[in-house]
Amino acid sequence: MVDLHTQYQRIKGEIDEAIQQVLNTSAFIQGPQVQQFAEALATYNDVDFVIPCANGTDALQIAMMALEYKPGDEIVLPVHTYVATAEVIALLGLTPVFTEVDPDTFNIDPNQIQEKITPCTRAIVPVHLYGQCADMEAILAIAKRNNLDVIEDTAQALGAIYTFSDGRKMRAGTMGTIGTTSFFPSKNLGCYGDGGALLTRDSKLAEKLKMIANHGQRIKYHHDIIGINSRLDTLQAAILRVKLNYLDEYISARNAVANFYDQKLSSIEGLQRPQRSRQSTHVFHQYTLRISNNRRDELKTFLEKREIPSMIYYPVPLHLQKAYRRKGVEEGAFPITETLSAEVISLPIHTEMSEDQLLFIANSIKEFFN
Ligand SMILES: *Cc1c(COP(=O)(O)O)cnc(C)c1O
Repeated sequence: MVDLHTQYQRIKGEIDEAIQQVLNTSAFIQGPQVQQFAEALATYNDVDFVIPCANGTDALQIAMMALEYKPGDEIVLPVHTYVATAEVIALLGLTPVFTEVDPDTFNIDPNQIQEKITPCTRAIVPVHLYGQCADMEAILAIAKRNNLDVIEDTAQALGAIYTFSDGRKMRAGTMGTIGTTSFFPSKNLGCYGDGGALLTRDSKLAEKLKMIANHGQRIKYHHDIIGINSRLDTLQAAILRVKLNYLDEYISARNAVANFYDQKLSSIEGLQRPQRSRQSTHVFHQYTLRISNNRRDELKTFLEKREIPSMIYYPVPLHLQKAYRRKGVEEGAFPITETLSAEVISLPIHTEMSEDQLLFIANSIKEFFN
């Protein structure tokens, strides 16, 4: 699905030098590269503060700790997404309130949010799934009307640009109260291990997020609030600082792959290509098809036989996961998401794909449908 080795080979000189610099100074925790990377990422996103942390799941947890939600508070999130968002909510004793998604963009459907809001609701967590922003204009309006926070899970969409109806453009993760992201190796900006970050425009909140990520301390051994241990390693920060310079190039490469698939896979009965949002650019963390007529798994097996990898994001909707089942929310509660779980399939998409590989994949899919 990805080719991290070739990607490394292309920038090996720069990466090796950055790693060697960290080794030479041996400042493995909170070395100067961490702040340097945070500032570079803030500039890239045109946002005031970036707080690095250990991974994208921690970023969500730190955000919800900083906003001081209490057990029983309700958090609205999409039901078609990765588990991390629901997991952190549940871990903190909060209640995840699952919400149906849009069948074309796969993102939370703003029209379904208002009816989920109760006096206990504190926040909406849109996940910018597969690489394009959720309908933020509508989501921010609902949040404002109901006095809710918005925490944008930007793990899959770092770099995507959203255009508001008045023409203002903002990067994914910078529109709400807090944005969170992940630098897991296969993410669009991936490091060589785990990593994550939080984005915000609020200086007080930034200070608090920074403290929580580092044991609730501003001064060493003086703990003002309860925190966790969630720091970005200096080595990872040094690697990310190099790779950030290539993020736009990586996004273009992914778009070129998506455009190729789009063109080759047009007008195939029973196959729906990814729909582009009108408000958001797409950074194509995933290129996800919908295969109807119960043929998705058959296609997956067909591709496997040709050694073409593919993935199902996600095979079981959150409300049907054993850990997150709740009385009264049975199969059928979220029909669109349940259909998506049975129909979606993501094709290989990364920065190192050759025309030969792409042609082989596209032709194999065409053959399957012929
Ligand atoms: C990857 C991912 C996360 C979690 O990031 P980690 O760094 O693996 O903890 C959270 N949300 C979404 C949508 C993701 O894709």
